[in-house]
Amino acid sequence: MTVIMDGKSCADKIIEKIKSEVVQYDKKPTLAVILIGNNHASSIYVANKQKKADYIGFNSILINLPYDVSENNLLEQIYKLNDNPDVNAILVQLPLPKTINQQKILEAIDPIKDVDCFTSYNFGWLALGYNPYVVPCTPKGIIRLTDEYKIDLEGKNIIVIGRSNIVGKPLSLLLEQRNATVTVAHSKTKNLTALSSSQDIVISAVGIPDFITTEYIKEGAVVIDVGINRTDKGITGDVKFDEVKDKASFITPVPKGIGPMTIAMLMENTLELFKIQHSFIN
Ligand code: NDP
Repeated sequence: MTVIMDGKSCADKIIEKIKSEVVQYDKKPTLAVILIGNNHASSIYVANKQKKADYIGFNSILINLPYDVSENNLLEQIYKLNDNPDVNAILVQLPLPKTINQQKILEAIDPIKDVDCFTSYNFGWLALGYNPYVVPCTPKGIIRLTDEYKIDLEGKNIIVIGRSNIVGKPLSLLLEQRNATVTVAHSKTKNLTALSSSQDIVISAVGIPDFITTEYIKEGAVVIDVGINRTDKGITGDVKFDEVKDKASFITPVPKGIGPMTIAMLMENTLELFKIQHSFIN
């Protein structure tokens, strides 16, 4: 029987654990989020993150800048947050307007406050197989959920479809560190269905609704759907869930799959950075 991997309940458990830890500290961890413009989806993501931070007992700061903000103004905001000792974690909500050099902005974040491992300093450590201050939230959430379901990654053939800097690329590095054999696919990959349907685990981070059909899946494979796509039917993932679920051994739903895990990892990373900055680490 197929197991539906409940990211929501796993995330809720993590959130409760963080909440009970935070009450022990005299100071509250502080997460600052920079949001540019009023993109509907980004605003909802940020509001959800702030709601969770408030629930846990963190301080959350939202800096909402206009869509036509200059690069210099945005950099100034980041420098101010870097210099503010009360701010422990900084997240720049992506995507940024095309007029802004994204990597220049992300590089400006102090690595010790870089809550989603966006800077080349932290990403470089990750790529070298060492520990960055914290690991990127979505890939970390995916791995945590597989751990929760006791899915052994070692020696597994895993395809990650999508190679973005926030999902596919760091995820492939983390999976390799778990001794999986990883294939990274993208829009130029040839014979993707044949490639994918030979894999033990298929992880889709493409951003196209119903992209993954049964043809991409081996009988009994694990299917992880990272996609969040806004359609006429509401929010869907990349996977044609109703048909793929009958072929998979484990599958994540959308919503209530990787989305809540990402937010839980953002909270966990905020707490980790707070502890590193206050040397609470044993
Ligand atoms: P990007 O648009 O940055 O990357 C998409 C990737 O998919 C690219 O590597 C692209 O290839 C690849 N791709 C596009 N079309 C195809 C195709 N036909 N065949 C194979 N590969 C293809 O997206 P993100 O990584 O930022 O996000 C991906 C999805 O995950 C989105 O739906 C996003 O909303 C969701 N997401 C969900 C999160 C969560 O918490 N659940 C967090 C972050 C993102 P190429 O590089 O060649 O262009």
